[in-house]
Amino acid sequence: MIKIEDLHAYYGPIEALKGIELMVEKGKITCLIGSNGAGKSTLMNSISGTIAHRGSIMVNGDTNIVRKNPRQIARMGIIQVPEGRHVFPGLSVEENLQTGTVVWHGYFGKQSYAHELEVVYDLFPRLKERRKQLAWSMSGGEQQMLAIGRALMARPKVLLLDEPSMGLSPLLVGEMFEKIVEINKTGITILLNEQNARLAMKISDNTYVIEQGKIKMSGPSADLRDDPRIAEAYLGKHTSKGKMNQESGESI
Ligand code: ATP
Repeated sequence: MIKIEDLHAYYGPIEALKGIELMVEKGKITCLIGSNGAGKSTLMNSISGTIAHRGSIMVNGDTNIVRKNPRQIARMGIIQVPEGRHVFPGLSVEENLQTGTVVWHGYFGKQSYAHELEVVYDLFPRLKERRKQLAWSMSGGEQQMLAIGRALMARPKVLLLDEPSMGLSPLLVGEMFEKIVEINKTGITILLNEQNARLAMKISDNTYVIEQGKIKMSGPSADLRDDPRIAEAYLGKHTSKGKMNQESGESI
């Protein structure tokens, strides 16, 4: 669905991506893991067209979006949920959700978005309960749900989820990942940047490891989870299969 070749991205003179090659397969969950500053968010921002970049980003084999602007990219159904949520604090939950429809609806569109709203409220009943509440007064977890809900209102084909578990309690992280799987089951392709490599690799089909702006390793998540280099660097201290991880108590 998205095929990236020789992608470079820049912050002024800083080259943050140095020739990325990556595939986001249709209908699958692809995850990015890597240490802080590796370039994961920069990769997402390049796909959504929000930072300076060059190379090739082919969508469905026939459209190179590398020179398209963020609005054109969003209109193609590639929707980003940015790191840090960025909901509109002074708008209610439902008003925030409505802003997501601007992508297909325009600012003063008259079409109904009742169906989209129903889908979001089915997925996140808490948003329905709080639909009149102002976004600033919601908890971090609720704001993250709202940010994802707003992206779903945009009728995404591909969701770029940047650090959806950031700042959430362990209980909410689990709930958030279940929702991500549910969203994927509706046919939406997902590219996930996630610090919690263990969970990300558990729910994803394919994994790419990024270090210093380059792809260091890639493959099916189920295979990479058993790779001792991944286990050592990203999943905890023990490397042999079947041992318990000290931090989480989970079996690797
Ligand atoms: P994190 O998980 O910490 O967000 P990341 O893998 O997403 O890390 P990026 O945020 O993509 O990493 O950063 C990649 C590189 O680009 C880093 O060296 C970072 O310092 C640099 N960088 C990111 N944003 C900017 C910016 N606005 N100006 C200058 N350099 C930046």
